[in-house]
Amino acid sequence: MNLAKILEEKKIPEIFQPRFRRPGQRFLLINFFLILLILLTSWDHLSAGQKVQGESKKQSLNISREKKYVLEWLSQPEQIEYFGKISDRIWSFAELGFQEYKSSALLAETLEKEGFRVERGLAGLPTCFVATYGEGRPVIGFLGEFDALPGLSQKGRIPKKDPLIEGAPGHGCGHNTMGTAAVAAAIATKKAMERFGIKGTIKVFGSPAEEILASRPYMVRAGLFKDVEAVLDNHSSSDFGTSYGVSGNAVISVLFTFKGKTAHSAGAPWAGRSALDAVELMNVATNYLREHLNPAHRLHYIIMEGGEAPNVVPDRASVWYYIRNTDEHLEQMFERVVNCAKAAALATGTELSEVKVLSATHQFHGNRALAELLQKNIELTGMPLWDKEEEEFARALQKELQAREEGLKKEVSKLREPREAFIGGGSTDVGEVTLVAPTATVRFPSNVPGAVGHHWSTVASVYGSIAWKGLNAGAKAMALTAIDLLTRPEELKKIRAEFEEYIKTHPYKSFLPEEAKPPLDLNRALMDKWRKLLEDKEIKN
Ligand SMILES: [Zn+2]
Repeated sequence: MNLAKILEEKKIPEIFQPRFRRPGQRFLLINFFLILLILLTSWDHLSAGQKVQGESKKQSLNISREKKYVLEWLSQPEQIEYFGKISDRIWSFAELGFQEYKSSALLAETLEKEGFRVERGLAGLPTCFVATYGEGRPVIGFLGEFDALPGLSQKGRIPKKDPLIEGAPGHGCGHNTMGTAAVAAAIATKKAMERFGIKGTIKVFGSPAEEILASRPYMVRAGLFKDVEAVLDNHSSSDFGTSYGVSGNAVISVLFTFKGKTAHSAGAPWAGRSALDAVELMNVATNYLREHLNPAHRLHYIIMEGGEAPNVVPDRASVWYYIRNTDEHLEQMFERVVNCAKAAALATGTELSEVKVLSATHQFHGNRALAELLQKNIELTGMPLWDKEEEEFARALQKELQAREEGLKKEVSKLREPREAFIGGGSTDVGEVTLVAPTATVRFPSNVPGAVGHHWSTVASVYGSIAWKGLNAGAKAMALTAIDLLTRPEELKKIRAEFEEYIKTHPYKSFLPEEAKPPLDLNRALMDKWRKLLEDKEIKN
């Protein structure tokens, strides 16, 4: 990638270069250029790197020296490259949930090198870490994820399906850019705190296994967010924006295991009791159940074990379910699915030997005041300026996907309000954090509009210069907001007041049963299968 290109000077638009034909306008013309000169001089005080972003000049001129410093520091080409390369390396590790040993270590070491105190393996999760800088209040948190998805391997920046390693995992949700954006934001904030003597504490929560929704419920249970006063979360997107209010579904991730009796499937089938029959009957029952659930629900499963040979009656079978609904309806829906499992066991003469909850998390409850503050900083940061090659890649990918050939986004998004009617959807375990600390998520533009989530097209997009610039923009918006929270107590007070009021009617209660343990081994065999092959293609420093 050509860094000089990224830093290409903004051209003065033609509108600022009028031709005056009548002599009476000469005076106006001189005044105009004087004002323009003043504007451009102030503009030049901002670093060259800030011109990477196409932000509003007017706002940039009024910002505090702390925020100006953060923008300048993150805009340096060497910082864009430094964090960009970390993101690309994590992209190449492509580690599945709870197997992110290298990704987690790289992020934790990056923070440690900058003087953060790092605690590893917290909440019983080997790849979870918390990195802390500073002391006392306020305490501001950054969330960062880094896990990949199975089966999505794809070459970076290639606009058609072309696996790097056929069948291996890939970063189909851009989490490589996200953990990195949190780290970049925290380091920039720390630099400003040091330089200007800003008081307070910042913490980076290295959060594993988001794709199996399995770290934050356990991190909250372990009390990691106890003293945190506000949380800045981030997610890769094709746009640059934020939102507030309730979104996404709550979820219970649960494994049902049935025990039967083995027998010769042809010689003496009457002597056997098939555990697989129980799984199949349970699935039939839950598929009938769907019609009588409220419309926001989602229900899906995969069969984990179903026997090993058709001529042996399977004595053990298991099925993994995601049961999703609103916070309000989740537990009742869970109970009805468990009833389907019990009925299947009864019908097949097998035993429902285990109902193992792997994880459970709430809907996302975004704080409005924090989102409004974040939105201002998104607008201040502005969209990255894309170069020709990036635009061409975006359009080629959109063409391949038969999506609208619009290229990359040029404008930041408006603050997104909650939908009037919630129709259900995916989940994030960030939801769990939103009920213990006021939280807002910045969506930053490290992906191409039209690229599909959990799909090769996202893996292709969240690598290289688009991802570098996008995550840098996200880091800026988070760091600027952290500076506001640390230096403007009235903002934090407003955010906290909204939160305290909200939790009166939404008090936090974990959906996790007490005995639940994080499913640390769920992806182990799958990761072991691909690790060596991935290491051969790994991006080194
Ligand atoms: Zn994601």
